[in-house]
Amino acid sequence: MHFSLQLTMLFAVSTLAILPNPTAIEALKLTQEEGMELSELRETVEEIEMVDGHCHNLVEFDSNSITGGFVQAFTVGAFADADAIAFAQTSLSFKKGLRDVAELYGTEVSLQGVEEYRRVSGLQSITSTCLKAAKISAILIDDGIQMDKKNEIEWHKNFIPFAGRILRTERVAEQILEQGLSNGSSWTIDSFTEAYVSKLRSVAKEIYALKSIVAYYGGLEINLNVTKTEAEESLRQVLINATKPIYILHHRNLVDYLFLQSLEIALSYDLPMQIHTGFGDRLLDLRKSNPLHFRSVLEDQRYSKCRFVFLHASHPFSKEASYLASVYSQVYLDFGLAIPKLSMHGMISAVKDLLTLAPIHKVMFSTDAYTFPETFYLGAKNSREVVFSVLRDAYIDGELLISEAVEAAKDILARNAIRFYKISSSNITVP
Ligand SMILES: [Zn+2]
Repeated sequence: MHFSLQLTMLFAVSTLAILPNPTAIEALKLTQEEGMELSELRETVEEIEMVDGHCHNLVEFDSNSITGGFVQAFTVGAFADADAIAFAQTSLSFKKGLRDVAELYGTEVSLQGVEEYRRVSGLQSITSTCLKAAKISAILIDDGIQMDKKNEIEWHKNFIPFAGRILRTERVAEQILEQGLSNGSSWTIDSFTEAYVSKLRSVAKEIYALKSIVAYYGGLEINLNVTKTEAEESLRQVLINATKPIYILHHRNLVDYLFLQSLEIALSYDLPMQIHTGFGDRLLDLRKSNPLHFRSVLEDQRYSKCRFVFLHASHPFSKEASYLASVYSQVYLDFGLAIPKLSMHGMISAVKDLLTLAPIHKVMFSTDAYTFPETFYLGAKNSREVVFSVLRDAYIDGELLISEAVEAAKDILARNAIRFYKISSSNITVP
């Protein structure tokens, strides 16, 4: 492409909306052919039925897990205290998100307007509206977050053609210990490991991935040499004066030991392992959730055939994640949560960073939606806008032909996840 034209376009592109309509394309001073080519990309991105590889359950309106009203949909993680709720309302992501939701509902652009619409319409109605507008054909739900009045995975199938399960491993371990507490079980590390592994095996064929929040439980650096004796002592500590709910959070040897057990199961059933990386809430030590800390596992030959998905674009460590995906065949990337929780600049940078080195077929969309149906809508809407913007720039920069940009959009928004998680259902069509 001619350099001066490229400059004119770059200047114009930066001043216009993300998805140029035909008038905007005129204003971009693109040649007619280039305008038509970008229209083709825009149409693909707008029309595609997306596949959401990572999200969570929606909950009833009167759930005790909703403590901050609708604003809570704009906070990150479970730690939605008063400060987090107040700060969220002054974020760029909230300002845009509120306008997007108000427009979808046809209400005035105010928190009160949207909350009133939600209250009058009810959960079923707004879920239907949000998921229809999101145009998502399949979702994979990590149902391991403890939430009051949580809807089961089956319930979500009323609104979406396909819903599958992701199993959060740390929660499985904690549930076994909680049940043991009720039954008066006394565990050894052997009997507990046996119960844990049997549980994973019993559901392995019904799920699409395992999920670990080991980043929250002390960080991504796994001790591959943890001994059974150390794990047993760690387990003993967990059980001293234990009451429900049990968290193994601060018992790192046990966490490492179970993580390695989970990898064995993942390997034997060829299940991907989703890994929380990057930002979260105050319970997380961000320094330790940089995916570079995961190197010991990535370098270990025993786990070289595992398939890891680094969630949340590993924000703010997106470039590091991209590098890892480019040198380790077992690393894949997912940008849910970074989209839609970051500013537009943050979302576009995150996806551009992921594509800095990583192969396109390893980068995947998800919403990381939870609790509020609007989080599905905002995740999908923003992802379409961001993926269009990123691929448009790759086209303008001469990195991708338009046909390649169109294929990349289909891969990132749907096909990569369908292939990776082996989703086969007559309810969804592969774009
Ligand atoms: Zn999540």
